[in-house]
Amino acid sequence: MSPTNLTAARRQAFAAVATAAREQRGTWVRLDAYPTVRGARTTAGRINNGTAAEFKGAGHWEAYTAACEDGESVWLRYIAGDQAVPRLPKRMTVRVRHDGDGHGYEGVGVLTVTISSRCPRCGGPRGVDTIRAFRFVHDGDHFVVDRWTNSCGHGDVYEAVVAEARQEDRESPADLVQAAYAAQEVGPHASQAANLLARHGHLDAAALVRGEVKNNRGHLSTLQAVEFLRELTGGGR
Ligand SMILES: [Zn+2]
Repeated sequence: MSPTNLTAARRQAFAAVATAAREQRGTWVRLDAYPTVRGARTTAGRINNGTAAEFKGAGHWEAYTAACEDGESVWLRYIAGDQAVPRLPKRMTVRVRHDGDGHGYEGVGVLTVTISSRCPRCGGPRGVDTIRAFRFVHDGDHFVVDRWTNSCGHGDVYEAVVAEARQEDRESPADLVQAAYAAQEVGPHASQAANLLARHGHLDAAALVRGEVKNNRGHLSTLQAVEFLRELTGGGR
């Protein structure tokens, strides 16, 4: 949807969000949810460029998109001014309690998992800056897990968090590398992407990337490796 054919009601809603965001500079506010990723990304792109009708000004606004229960949500914040706003990381690593997958009791366990820093229900930022260690004792053994509070009000349950982390591990090799690159968890050379893939069990993809590095006599960037993997699977995005 282009800004020119926004309905009047939508325009009014956007203006209200813009006002709310200006009044609380640096705080993420939800704009809308879109049925398609493309629609959400188009809007977020315009906001980030400062060209969206209600969100004018280059460098005044920051927006991102995230999956949510009703499609792909767009979140934004007003950042104009001299004082820097804290960066929102894409992922967060936390310790969660996980007592095994079997039906029988397998004892208390603690898993360290990396999950999206966005709430899976509304796409809002998870409480990355609220993560606190929580100690507990079970049968005389001491354990430490992490707790956090999401400002959107949706609470995270450890079981769902473990399932989410496993789901992320199953994401496509190209998505995995792209997300890690965006989060600065992998370097700019494709050989680093291959190592990352191998660490996550994508051994075939790692071998393919290493082969492509060789074909290019060592000249292959991480982003080129992402493109290469996408072409292989035919999933151009
Ligand atoms: Zn939420």
